[in-house]
Amino acid sequence: MEPKALVNKIIPFSSVDGPGCRTAIFLQGCNIDCRYCHNPETRRVCVNCGLCVEKCPAHALSFAEREGARTVVWNPDLCCQCDTCIHVCPHDASPRVQWMTPEEVMEKVRKQIPCIRGISVSGGECTLHPEFLTALFRLAKQDGLGTLIDSNGMILFENFPALCEVCDGVMLDIKAFDPEDYHRVTGADNANVLRNALWLGHRGKLEEVRFVIVPDLYDTARSVRASGEFLREVYAEHPFRIKLIAYRPMGVREQYSHYEVPSQAYLGQLRDLLADMGYQDIVLI
Ligand code: SF4
Ligand code: SF4
Ligand code: SF4
Repeated sequence: MEPKALVNKIIPFSSVDGPGCRTAIFLQGCNIDCRYCHNPETRRVCVNCGLCVEKCPAHALSFAEREGARTVVWNPDLCCQCDTCIHVCPHDASPRVQWMTPEEVMEKVRKQIPCIRGISVSGGECTLHPEFLTALFRLAKQDGLGTLIDSNGMILFENFPALCEVCDGVMLDIKAFDPEDYHRVTGADNANVLRNALWLGHRGKLEEVRFVIVPDLYDTARSVRASGEFLREVYAEHPFRIKLIAYRPMGVREQYSHYEVPSQAYLGQLRDLLADMGYQDIVLI
């Protein structure tokens, strides 16, 4: 049977999800809980509580019986994209999702050929669906498209060789180097993230490494420096891009929206720190 994944949205043309113009596909569901998550509605799968159905001003949400269960159904033709459903959902979920096969996703991607260089799959955490990703990337390759994954690195890539074969590269969120800092930011352990960074890096599959800079949460300079030291060897083998992303409160859950936004000057200091170690392709956002 063809694998299916719950798709939150497909952005036909994106210039911020990897190099060049790409179609970005966002899957629903995540396995960690970053305080600064700016798409918290992608974190969990809908539990069909019905709260958003009552609140939808366009009557785009309703209940239907599916496989013996009362399920929330979204009608995209009626939806006015007001985001009320996302704001009222207490479960970090969204009703505006669709189960799709790789072929169904590719039907939407192909409309953008030849204006796109490739596809990038993000989340939530897209590696929770390795069979779906592998099948999707095989189809994308048949159409001559590049294939990138945006991942938090919690799932070990070495366990999915077929996926790694058809994936051009991974944009990996390291978030924080110290395990205690990482746990404070995400509620999880970062052993797999660091293992993935080395494993992918040695194979030339590390496209990009990302740090979200939240000075209120941990010593970001110490973390960036330690990550830089850790990755120096693989960078010498296969250089990759580094993105230093300033925390911003937009879209962040209210209880985590009070952290200070780091200045561009501070981000510049972190960039200089990495540049002194020999890193070259460093982007500040
Ligand atoms: S965004 Fe949500 S609440 Fe708004 S119209 Fe669409 S389904 Fe309804
Ligand atoms: S999206 Fe959220 S509010 Fe709406 S039915 Fe699902 S869990 Fe309930
Ligand atoms: S890994 Fe991404 S989607 Fe998951 S909680 Fe963190 S920021 Fe949000």
